[in-house]
Amino acid sequence: MGTEMTQKPAVASDKTGVAVGPVILLGAPGAGKGTQAQRITDYFGIPQISTGDILRDHIRRGTELGLQARAQMEQGQLVGDQVVCDMVADRIAQPDCAIGFILDGFPRTVKQAQWLDRHLAQKHYFEIDHGCRKQPIVIQLTVEYNDLLRRLTGRRTCPTCGRIYNANTSQKPLVEGVCDLDGSALVTRKDDREEVIMERLKNYEAQTLPLADYYGMKKRLVEIDGSVADVDAITAEVRKAIEHGDCL
Ligand code: ADP
Repeated sequence: MGTEMTQKPAVASDKTGVAVGPVILLGAPGAGKGTQAQRITDYFGIPQISTGDILRDHIRRGTELGLQARAQMEQGQLVGDQVVCDMVADRIAQPDCAIGFILDGFPRTVKQAQWLDRHLAQKHYFEIDHGCRKQPIVIQLTVEYNDLLRRLTGRRTCPTCGRIYNANTSQKPLVEGVCDLDGSALVTRKDDREEVIMERLKNYEAQTLPLADYYGMKKRLVEIDGSVADVDAITAEVRKAIEHGDCL
């Protein structure tokens, strides 16, 4: 709802420590995956794995992988499947992923989704104590094209803590251009320029949207309307889906 609702500090809940299993957030660029992932992370006490953030971190640090991925990302193209799958394999092997994790921005192609299914099975991921969920739950956030454009052109990020704001929506910072939490100057991502945004949305339709069918056929998909202005209401829906979809 209002700005004040979206700026509340994160509160850990009594759900922290409960086995949640893998949660996949699916949705177009700008659909709100990152925002919801941050909130769900706080609520369930499980890590957010954002392949976009990991890749941007590689670019900042100037690693070999960052150098390879940079041009593709800045042009709104996807980075190669193998590179991204290896990155995810490393991350989910960390102990903090044992009771669950949220994938934000992965998988993004059918190949990546097939890889993830194989990988989780091979690693006997579901033989660890995960409650009764046997497969990842996939939450698709749906938002109309024009709304996506408005959100993406207004998106600002804190380079220090990663918090996401939006100059065009109710998620504005308290002081324009400044992070509420640490006072850093907010930045606009290089790929949030209009021509690159169009390319990203086009690639989403062609390469990522087919995943809704892929997971839908496996009965793992929950669709949530991500277009409502009340970010808290969307979070409540996402939480409900995770809590009640645990025996999929
Ligand atoms: P958004 O979802 O808002 O477009 P992300 O931060 O998730 O942004 O990703 C930014 C860019 O990083 C993508 O446009 C793509 O180039 C690259 N990327 C992120 N995740 C993947 C992935 N799973 N597969 C391939 N490329 C990826």
